[in-house]
Amino acid sequence: MRYITNCAATSCDKTIHDKTSPDTHQVSSRYPVRVSKYYAGLIRHEGDAIWKQCMPDMRELEDAAQCPDPLEETSLSPVPGLIHRYPDRVVLLVSNRCPVYCRFCMRKRLVGCGDAPLGEEELKRALEYIAATPSIRDVILSGGDPLMLDDASLMLILSGLRAIKHVSIIRIGTRVPVTLPERITPELCDLLKRFHPLYINTHFNHPDEITADSSRACAMLAESGIPLGNQTVLLKGINDDAEVMRTLMTGLLSIRVKPYYLHQMDLVRGTAHFRTSVEKGLEIIRALRGHVSGLAVPHYVIDLPGGKGKVAILPDDVERTGEVLLLRTYTGERVAYRDVVSI
Ligand SMILES: *Cc1c(COP(=O)(O)O)cnc(C)c1O
Ligand code: SF4
Repeated sequence: MRYITNCAATSCDKTIHDKTSPDTHQVSSRYPVRVSKYYAGLIRHEGDAIWKQCMPDMRELEDAAQCPDPLEETSLSPVPGLIHRYPDRVVLLVSNRCPVYCRFCMRKRLVGCGDAPLGEEELKRALEYIAATPSIRDVILSGGDPLMLDDASLMLILSGLRAIKHVSIIRIGTRVPVTLPERITPELCDLLKRFHPLYINTHFNHPDEITADSSRACAMLAESGIPLGNQTVLLKGINDDAEVMRTLMTGLLSIRVKPYYLHQMDLVRGTAHFRTSVEKGLEIIRALRGHVSGLAVPHYVIDLPGGKGKVAILPDDVERTGEVLLLRTYTGERVAYRDVVSI
């Protein structure tokens, strides 16, 4: 008997094997394939931005050079299910299910494998570790997708965390508003708002994902007082284009979601065909900064291999001559700035 169970809403999922070729069965036996009915409905034609994110591709099997866990999450795990890399925050992997298995997922080694999300015993040990570590102020629920759990399981996890005094904020990383918006129910919102301050970071990658349904899901969460952020992954052939990104980031603001991170693709095995150069990401940030509302500009980050953590990178290459900095404006103009501190 496990306390932690998956949400019944997920039973409406349908796989779309009928649209795939026999080749892709080879891929799906290695990396699970699942596409929610809603998300499949967003596909307009084969090979579009939605299709590429969810349909298996033979190139996933050809990429054997990369490592399954380059960020060394496994070695940063003090107890099963918990990743503790930064002093004041931890990631708790509460689920290994998602409504859609994104082909570029950085946890491709874990998602969709086995049926147990986090057992009762593992949850107890993780909560004990957090309770015994007063430096932890921020707990990030991730997975898989935490909102794939049923409400009772979420209640159990969230109340366990809230019982720990030094846990100041709780964050949930979820793609459910994008891939299974019907899971955002009034009941779920009522439950979540009992655990404030609670933040949600969602994961939109393309303007086609901003629909009436995903907008409604975000509005319901925002109306429950939950600040919404977004983490986008920079994906070759999907959103590696300044115009697409401008439309996406400004579109997110209009549904009350603040762009938080733009992630350089991690060096995860099976995902090489999605990776762009870092220069592409910088070009996109350059095309955003100053040209659209500052609220629409995410931090462009690279999660360094070896568990060294995220670094934010900026397009302005700062050149210094003594106290003079040469900065580049959003129009590309170089401007000298005197870096003087007067007391
Ligand atoms: C990204 C990440 C976090 C959260 O980082 P923020 O920059 O605070 O959003 C925490 N732990 C791990 C292991 C991470 O990869
Ligand atoms: S929703 Fe997130 S965790 Fe799940 S497959 Fe997609 S990227 Fe991975």
